[in-house]
Amino acid sequence: MVEKSAASRVEKLFAVKGMNDILPPDSAQWEWFEEQVRVQMNRHAYRNIRTPIVEPTALFVRGTGETTDIVEKEMYAFEDKLNGEALTLRPENTPGVVRAAIEHNLTYDGAKRLYYMGPMFRHERPQRGRYRQFYQLGAEALGFAGPEVDAELIVLAHQLLSSIGLHGFRVELNSLGVSSERHAHRAALVAYFEAHVDSLDADARRRLHANPLRILDTKNPAMQALVQEAPQLLDFLGEASLKHFETVKALLSACGVQWQVNPRLVRGLDYYSHTVFEFITDELGAQGTLCGGGRYDGLFELLGGKPTPAVGWGMGIERVLELLKVQGRSRGPSIPDAYAIVVDASAMATAMQCLQVLRSEGVCVQMHAGTSEGLGSIKSQFKRADSSGARFALVFGPDEIASGTVTVKSLRDGSGAQIEQVLNQSAQWAKSLQSSA
Ligand code: ATP
Ligand code: MG
Repeated sequence: MVEKSAASRVEKLFAVKGMNDILPPDSAQWEWFEEQVRVQMNRHAYRNIRTPIVEPTALFVRGTGETTDIVEKEMYAFEDKLNGEALTLRPENTPGVVRAAIEHNLTYDGAKRLYYMGPMFRHERPQRGRYRQFYQLGAEALGFAGPEVDAELIVLAHQLLSSIGLHGFRVELNSLGVSSERHAHRAALVAYFEAHVDSLDADARRRLHANPLRILDTKNPAMQALVQEAPQLLDFLGEASLKHFETVKALLSACGVQWQVNPRLVRGLDYYSHTVFEFITDELGAQGTLCGGGRYDGLFELLGGKPTPAVGWGMGIERVLELLKVQGRSRGPSIPDAYAIVVDASAMATAMQCLQVLRSEGVCVQMHAGTSEGLGSIKSQFKRADSSGARFALVFGPDEIASGTVTVKSLRDGSGAQIEQVLNQSAQWAKSLQSSA
């Protein structure tokens, strides 16, 4: 047929590699998760912040750090065609939040607790749990120097993951101390790696002088033994840093959050100090880090702001939802309470008016809609009602309309029971359609 062959000449377009469409019914999981996030954030008094997806490239080069994987090779950076500005699709959102906090002097009247959700972009090799557009939930506490907020943030992430029914993840902690302690450790670390330079891979050699701490973060199995034996930063911490770390650990224990110290946990970003942590699961293969974060007391200054202590985390939403699926905790798709069957088009206006009232009373109703040939037979409409999953069919037939009623027929309990309800009293019987009723 003419139309078909014309269509087949047009080349189809596909989503960018590593960037996913989120479709129903999966999108229902996302909406549900987002709702739980809002509940938990509200309970912990964290307020929502929304910053642009595109930021100046310099923000991430300075903020995320020049020697990180993200800045070295994963950023979607481009030049604005109109004015030549160097821009980047955000690979993470902590620098964006800090930029906004500095720009709007957010902490002028005291510390702030913030959270965000949204897409991040990294040019990574796509695989399960690793995408080029992925979504992060993040929480950032700005202006708090004490260890309580480090603990609060970890408790918050733990409570969120537990509240949605997840288990089988662990919390790993480390302390990166302050910069003088990292300096002393760094010298010992460089000396150690220089003594074993033959065992270093290319990445590690490149980082040996630029950022030796990052070598500890290597995923190369051949380097694990070497890294295990490397000098540990924890041994270089002074009294104040140790006290901060001990308080965080004690508070977590008091809150029933189990933790373990991983002296090689350094995180992928350059800006951390004191507490760093990750939530890890063994049930998602290689991409098992659900959430990572830490304290970044130096970042405000690095971005031109006043010294401001801060701490935060980022959580990968795809990985959390994947773990829910693996653990059989996914929620079923949402189904309507009722399906509206309209036998004759002349009844459509009356039916739609009734549905408006039902919906304003909180009932979820799917309305039958026709084709260019009309609404279709009552039998075919009942088939649709069946496959919608709705518990009730609302039948707007000629007899019903004539007598000012609608037939409510039970579809799921096998009884096929039906009752007549009065059309203009729908606000009164609406509740009887809801599953919670
Ligand atoms: P990884 O070691 O897995 O690469 P990362 O250190 O790069 O993680 P962060 O920058 O700390 O990760 O981001 C926080 C969280 O965001 C991660 O723990 C993970 O859950 C998620 N995440 C990071 N990169 C991706 C990605 N490309 N696709 C999906 N989720 C991601
Ligand atoms: Mg990464």
